[in-house]
Amino acid sequence: PESVRVSEFAERIKKPATEILKKLILMGVFVTINQEISFEVAEKIAEQYNILLEKEVKQEREEVLINDFEDKEEDLMPRPPVVTVMGHVDHGKTSLLDAIRHSKVVETEAGGITQHIGAYTVDINDKKIVFLDTPGHEAFTAMRARGAQVTDIAILVVAADDGVMPQTIEAINHAKAANVPIIVAINKIDKSSANPDRVKQELTEYGLIAEEWGGDTICVPVSAKTKQGIDTLLEMILLVAEMQELKANPNRPAKGTIIEAKLDKGRGPVATVIVQKGTLKVGDSIIAGTTYGKVRALIDDKGRKVKSAGPSIPVEILGLAEVPNAGDILYAVSDEKTARQISEMRKEKERQQYFASSSKITLQDLFSQI
Ligand code: GDP
Ligand code: MG
Repeated sequence: PESVRVSEFAERIKKPATEILKKLILMGVFVTINQEISFEVAEKIAEQYNILLEKEVKQEREEVLINDFEDKEEDLMPRPPVVTVMGHVDHGKTSLLDAIRHSKVVETEAGGITQHIGAYTVDINDKKIVFLDTPGHEAFTAMRARGAQVTDIAILVVAADDGVMPQTIEAINHAKAANVPIIVAINKIDKSSANPDRVKQELTEYGLIAEEWGGDTICVPVSAKTKQGIDTLLEMILLVAEMQELKANPNRPAKGTIIEAKLDKGRGPVATVIVQKGTLKVGDSIIAGTTYGKVRALIDDKGRKVKSAGPSIPVEILGLAEVPNAGDILYAVSDEKTARQISEMRKEKERQQYFASSSKITLQDLFSQI
């Protein structure tokens, strides 16, 4: 907005309109409270109150530039579920992720080494499941703190020979707070000391009652070691996903979440994004947090160069100017100039917030102290 009504402005900065009118008169601006003043004038008044008006207006401008609109129901199409594995340390999260990856992920032609990009996709018949490759609660918590929710389903791994432990409870609380359905994988059932019934019993104390006990929590006995139960677990994930009716519009500019980012010696800043809406394409101008760029290349979880990535699909992005943070929201915008503009605005905002928190001294304060 280039101008603002005096009454509205007064309300916004929470100061009496009459007082503002007086200040305006002192500046040689003669208006009534129902008339509008220019942004520049408003900014000067706000300054006198030690208020940074610009921040708010810039926020509005940023939203206009990003244009994160709601999709129409008829534009939505089914998308694969994004799954996180959580649980107590040593209960087998990493082993389970590896077992799933190796049971289903076809080895690539180039030496059979699957690339680590922080997430991977598993194909089951004609359906896909996307696994976040970072077991552990930090990633989950960090992303949620930034308002980014990428996970649709949580797999709670509980070792059948150890039962519910502190981090199991933590994981349950995280998933519940995020309103994400939990599937329990009772792991290590190959062990002679395994006692799946004890695990189910303990879980009831946290509101997770197994289906076979009349509840609605799916519990799958598995062994990451022998691969027993892995196929059933994958089927159950698809079942839960189907009930969730996960959908997104693939035909719009992309919005996604950065799940991993690093500075690569040869390739520069590299970030893995899970697209949540729309389709990310090579050549797109993007903004993620305060960093921006133009997508130079997209690489999938099998290390292949791809031209685009749709909803739920993880891809590595080359072409960002700097390394973004995990949890940053990525948007494709109309052009690189816009992306740079938003980046500059956000950086400026960060600076202002920094200065606002470190020192609140204005000229006025200085004079009144003399
Ligand atoms: P994380 O800390 O939850 O990621 O657990 P890991 O995947 O690192 O596994 C911890 C230990 O348990 C390792 O020594 C694994 O080899 C072992 N382990 C994991 N899954 C199984 C299983 O299904 N059966 C048996 N016998 N051992 C397992
Ligand atoms: Mg691990």
